[in-house]
Amino acid sequence: MAKVTCYGGAGMVTGSCHLVEILSIKILVDCGMIQGQTWEENYDSFGFDAGSIDYLILTHAHADHIGRVPKLVKEGFKGEIFATKATFDMAYIMLLDSAMLLQEEYETQIRKALRRGEEALVKEPLYTKEHVEALFTCKRRALCFEEPFALTPFIRMSFYNAGHILGSAFVSLLFEEENLTHHVVFSGDIGGKERLLLSPLSPLPNPTTLFLESTYGDREHRSLKESIEEFKNAILETLEEGGNVIIPSFALERTQEILWVLHQMHKEGLLRHSHVFLDSPLAIEATKIYQKYPADLNQEVGLHVSLGDDPFDFPQLKLTQRKKDSIAINDVTKKAIIIAGSGMCTGGRVLHHLKQRIWNPKNAIIFVGFQVKGTLGRDIVDGENFVRLYGEDIKVRAKVHTINGLSAHADRKDMLAWIKPCGGLQNVYLIHGEPEKMELFKTYIKAHQETKVHIVMPKETIYI
Ligand SMILES: [Zn+2]
Repeated sequence: MAKVTCYGGAGMVTGSCHLVEILSIKILVDCGMIQGQTWEENYDSFGFDAGSIDYLILTHAHADHIGRVPKLVKEGFKGEIFATKATFDMAYIMLLDSAMLLQEEYETQIRKALRRGEEALVKEPLYTKEHVEALFTCKRRALCFEEPFALTPFIRMSFYNAGHILGSAFVSLLFEEENLTHHVVFSGDIGGKERLLLSPLSPLPNPTTLFLESTYGDREHRSLKESIEEFKNAILETLEEGGNVIIPSFALERTQEILWVLHQMHKEGLLRHSHVFLDSPLAIEATKIYQKYPADLNQEVGLHVSLGDDPFDFPQLKLTQRKKDSIAINDVTKKAIIIAGSGMCTGGRVLHHLKQRIWNPKNAIIFVGFQVKGTLGRDIVDGENFVRLYGEDIKVRAKVHTINGLSAHADRKDMLAWIKPCGGLQNVYLIHGEPEKMELFKTYIKAHQETKVHIVMPKETIYI
């Protein structure tokens, strides 16, 4: 009997890692980093032998879906990797950046430990740049959306557009076992019906079993239009008052969406005398990949590209690659819009901008993405009065805005609309969500649909 064991992304929003076993074939769907309070668990054993995996399928290039792949390679993975072209390109820059951050953190810890004589206690980095490079020498196959591929004579896989970030896919596995046909879909992360840059999520190809992400299973987002208005207003009010805006942003998708909105604001004449900084080397690299795949963007944005109008550029925009240029932003006293990582304020350049500006009531922090529990971003969103930055307790006086409608994740209404037309769907397994939100989502689905719904526990095995 085929089985799926969820080694990560079950009962939590990060660390997606699902092992599918069909007869003797082992397929791993995603291998993500565990983020937030339990980050140290990334060092734990996967729970399976990395060398025994035949195929690794990557749904998209967010760290919580690919962040442990170099560790998988370090521990002996020798199989074949499947993703879309854009996902492979994105994964490369994301993982190199991750390896660099791990190395920096390791060196900082070593320096501190040496002073205490405890350097032997410092753990090696989870992986290094060499492991990332080794991963890209593994056998790889880039697939287009809706291009079926036979993994074996009895297992066929296909990617479909997930409308989440550039290149993102949900995965369909169609296989036969004991004369029965099974059709299992892993949603990866899916986007809502309205997206700024991408075509919306493709319909579900009527699977029998669905592993469904439930990040926002407890809520309905404001409409995209309302959210963009809210975002623009937060920026305009702050600029009018002579303040500055900090946007902690994820390097993939959200940054490019913000650039596209700011591009339009520039065209409307709303950004006069302001300075926009994209202060993230990773986001600058990711934006180049968006510029490389215009055909993967939706019609409206694709049209701008074909007319030679770069949706991710405008005269006020400055890209600050070098550290000294990032520090120089501190000299801009008003009308600065600073887009910097990390999106949940767990590291990166956004921290020094927060230290410089979060105490000033004229300024605003605009959160445009999900904030995992245990991150600084979540603390700020939850209304902490003080935040600790570089060893200093700093009072939060800046205005804090949370714009959820720009989310790259579908809300509960979108997800229900996605599964509703699937007459053959027998089981929905909820993954990738916070436990209390998943309970609410389960109740919501059961109120509207007769399908069986189960919340997957960490390391639980589901028999198909
Ligand atoms: Zn994602």
